[in-house]
Amino acid sequence: MSNPRILIIGAGYGGMITTVNLAKELSPDDADITLVNKHNYHYQTTWLHEAAAGTIHHDRTRMLIKNVINTNRVHFVQDSVVKIDKDNKKVILKNGELSYDYLVVGLGFESNTFGIKGLSEHAFSIRSVNTARKIREHIEYKFASYNNDPDAKDSDLTLVVGGAGLSGVEFLGELVDRIPGLCREYDIDQNKVKIIDVEGMPMVLPPFERDLAEYAQRYLESKGVIFKLGTFIKEATPDGVFVQKKDAEKMEEIKAGTVVWTGGVKASHIPADSGFKTNRGKIPVTDDLRAPDDDHVFAVGDVAVVFPAEGKRPYPPTAQIAVQEGELVARNLKHLIKGEPTEKFVYKKRGTVASLGNHQGIGVVYDKKLKGKPAAAMKKVIDDRYLLELGGVGLMLRKGKLNFL
Ligand code: FAD
Ligand code: NAD
Repeated sequence: MSNPRILIIGAGYGGMITTVNLAKELSPDDADITLVNKHNYHYQTTWLHEAAAGTIHHDRTRMLIKNVINTNRVHFVQDSVVKIDKDNKKVILKNGELSYDYLVVGLGFESNTFGIKGLSEHAFSIRSVNTARKIREHIEYKFASYNNDPDAKDSDLTLVVGGAGLSGVEFLGELVDRIPGLCREYDIDQNKVKIIDVEGMPMVLPPFERDLAEYAQRYLESKGVIFKLGTFIKEATPDGVFVQKKDAEKMEEIKAGTVVWTGGVKASHIPADSGFKTNRGKIPVTDDLRAPDDDHVFAVGDVAVVFPAEGKRPYPPTAQIAVQEGELVARNLKHLIKGEPTEKFVYKKRGTVASLGNHQGIGVVYDKKLKGKPAAAMKKVIDDRYLLELGGVGLMLRKGKLNFL
């Protein structure tokens, strides 16, 4: 009899951890393993706000997949998934198709613009190495042009960030680190630069501990960030954005050379378009992380949604949960192949830490609150811990952050 074929689609946190662990848990006689990803590299999504602001080079966030997985054990295919044909157990790719006995869907997230006019066309979003690189280059171009282009306007030096969730606040932290250097490089008076954050809720970091969120807000304001709270982005145009304060009658225009939307994410459109049962586009996985309507399909990361035993709100989409799901899916696939019962997913919430640039941060780790430099250091520990799990000490030393402390 031929080996069962395991196919993993998407080399994000969930897909990579599933693949690396499967390669360790199953021998070549147990199963064939194939990983598909649209790029030949894996990137750290959780570092993209840094690459977007230009505080780190985007190459620091990515690594070639062949340098992390054992390509003698795992067959890697660089291609884009177009659709999952679950009835025929096939995945349709841009350049072909692959059959599977077990599928792991780890296609991650897309930016959610909620249908706001002009956002997809005129605002950037931080979602991949390519989009982060585009943001960095655009900002740099605006600064480089300011003293050279006769049509340059002061508003070219205004940056608007839409949303003050964790992505928005972390990006603002990087911008305030980066702007002084850009001003020096392009001979620009820093007083001419405006960084404006527009957040619909009346506070920054709505779901976070209030004292820590206020610390983040005060720190960013001390570095020049202007917060427009209780204000929604209503439209983006080539010249900036239109915003409206809650209960205000009229919209206000903010002219800006750069608009970065961090107002929300949604799951990859592929599971819903392929006919899977979804909840707001995500697969509401069973206890052992399978699709409720297909025993042969597992889902990990931002395409999956897990509800706690108590409470109606699902766990938020994070790298932290994606990694834990990947670990369990690898074990459950091994159990299925060995004819053993599968295990249930139990999420271990370790906490949340947000950076505010290189030297500042806020966070809660195992119920202990952190702010300032200890939080910034903890964020680097978390980043390096993932690299250690993914590729061992070698990868951590090559790509990690702690040697930059
Ligand atoms: P992703 O990381 O989204 O990766 C999906 C992979 O699939 C990518 O490699 C992509 O190229 C590939 N792919 C997508 N579509 C296709 C296709 N059609 N064909 C082939 N390949 C495809 N979470 C935390 O826990 N801590 C943090 O500090 C943190 N910081 C963040 C900072 C930012 C700026 C952002 C945007 C998010 C952050 N998050 C953080 C959330 C976290 O990044 C996501 O929850 C996590 O990346 C989800 O992982 P994933 O495995 O689902 O897939
Ligand atoms: P989010 O949904 O958490 O935050 C989006 C913010 O945008 C919200 O505060 C919302 O009120 C605001 N918003 C929405 N529409 C708006 C509008 N029209 N005008 C103005 N403001 C508007 O999205 P995110 O910050 O990208 O986070 C996505 C996921 O990634 C979350 O699960 C988060 O926990 C995770 N994440 C974690 C970290 C970390 O752990 N350090 C960092 C970044 C992201």
